[in-house]
Amino acid sequence: MSDHALLIAVFWGLFLLDGALAGRRSRWSFTNWLGGRRASPAWRRWHLLSPWPGGWRALADDLPFSLSPTGICNRPAGAAGRPPNDPGSAQAWRWEDIADARENDGLVLINGKIFCAATVHLTAEGLRALAAACAALTPPARAALPRARLRLWLRPTHLRRRAAVLRARTESLVLANALLLAGLLSLSVWFLGQLSAEHIGTDYAARLTRAGPLLLAYLACLHIGGVALAWWARRRLLRLSPGGSPRKNPLPGALLFPPSALRLRALLGAEWFPPSHPAALALAFAPTAARGEILFHTLSDLRWPLTSPADGAQVGEIVAWFRVVLGEELEVLLHREKIDTPALLASPAPDGLASRAFCPRCRAQFVAEGGNCPNGVPLRPLK
Ligand SMILES: [Zn+2]
Repeated sequence: MSDHALLIAVFWGLFLLDGALAGRRSRWSFTNWLGGRRASPAWRRWHLLSPWPGGWRALADDLPFSLSPTGICNRPAGAAGRPPNDPGSAQAWRWEDIADARENDGLVLINGKIFCAATVHLTAEGLRALAAACAALTPPARAALPRARLRLWLRPTHLRRRAAVLRARTESLVLANALLLAGLLSLSVWFLGQLSAEHIGTDYAARLTRAGPLLLAYLACLHIGGVALAWWARRRLLRLSPGGSPRKNPLPGALLFPPSALRLRALLGAEWFPPSHPAALALAFAPTAARGEILFHTLSDLRWPLTSPADGAQVGEIVAWFRVVLGEELEVLLHREKIDTPALLASPAPDGLASRAFCPRCRAQFVAEGGNCPNGVPLRPLK
């Protein structure tokens, strides 16, 4: 392989890897591939970004905890991901007992003890503030605080508006990136010998060689110009979202590392969507079938949760409150979005003549009526 070919292979390899994510636990990625309004959800440990500059994505985690006026526990309720992430051993803290909360290596620690995975829903700072605010009130007066927090994660209309703003403010970046991508692809094909002198004639090849420096200068202008436009667009986006906490500016890195500057829309989009419940992202962006599946998993986890007696009374009490409140908020939301909840939870069609019962949570079908599914959920007769 020539030096040029190696350089080109490394560049495009880095381009494809840029935006790839891999982690220790599964996450949701709502990935838009071509620049439209819809985004395909996927629940797994790794995710890729669209190679097209118009693509964008919104990442989300399942909530790793439940809240209540009494406290917080690391048993989730209303999880949309299947199989769910392992929450570890059960733990619950009363608000007044939380003296310290910090993040370390992707985990939240309460009073020095590993509590749950760190997600954007409740940072250590946010947890300390919520604990202090709740501890200052009597338990009956606290209920509004966790409910208000929950409502912030369930705003599909707001998410749709954010996606529309992102698309509108980054159109020029997509154009600059598309021209740069086309130029780099043409240059790569040319260098790789597809258009070598034997194929296109020596005169034309000589003319292309003379034009080479000019083409490189044009591509450098597109790269620098694209990053400068992104800088401006980012400032305007941050001004539109004064409450948001911006991450470290990714644009100096993109300027020095061209493979990551070819998808500037997705780069700016990474810090643009507010912390959300996956059900809200599904309502905002997912195609109908995927949306139905995510909503079904969320609702079935609320109605038929997997509980363990070893979790203890305090965990049970916090999860029970959170299940009721999340269920109420989702019901209001689904009604507003004109989603037919009974249809989502309807019995499946029998998958064979012998099928008599099904599990309402995992939808597995059974030949015997009555009893429980292996996860302990009581079976229901198939209609
Ligand atoms: Zn089941």
